[in-house]
Amino acid sequence: MIIETRNAGETFSLGEEIGRAARPGQVYTLVGDLGVGKTVFTQGLAKGLGIREAVNSPTFTIVQVYEDGRLPFYHFDVYRIGDISEMDEVGFEDYVYGDGVCLIEWADLIEELLPESRTKIRIEKDLERGFDYRRITVEERGRVHADFGNR
Ligand code: ADP
Ligand code: MG
Repeated sequence: MIIETRNAGETFSLGEEIGRAARPGQVYTLVGDLGVGKTVFTQGLAKGLGIREAVNSPTFTIVQVYEDGRLPFYHFDVYRIGDISEMDEVGFEDYVYGDGVCLIEWADLIEELLPESRTKIRIEKDLERGFDYRRITVEERGRVHADFGNR
């Protein structure tokens, strides 16, 4: 699925819509250059999960946990990761294979740790179409909702 947005509000709204549909255990991976709108999308997704707390990029920690929404939300930003072993140290596997919702900004930096089942989101600019234009590609990989129906 490809969605085109013309301003930050539209990207936020897309995130919000996806957040409303999020299921326990779902993992979203976000890739795209600095300043493309990954955090804007994340803020929308958090709102869609019913989170009221302000969501920003976790600058000094790899993961920020939000518990006040419909499901626990684990927001990773791995931009500053030095070594992949840092993910073990924060307990990445417990988050990713848990029942909350995970979102990982800069997921391509930890490609080898990502689960097969996930929603891949790529955000790209196209300056020929304007400074605020974004092309957002959403791709479901694996059996994303596989174990939800039984709960
Ligand atoms: P990232 O997390 O990818 O580094 P941010 O979400 O922090 O990027 O910042 C994106 C910036 O781009 C914001 O200042 C936002 O207002 C601006 N922007 C302009 N157009 C869009 C758009 N269509 N979608 C998302 N953000 C946009
Ligand atoms: Mg960001």
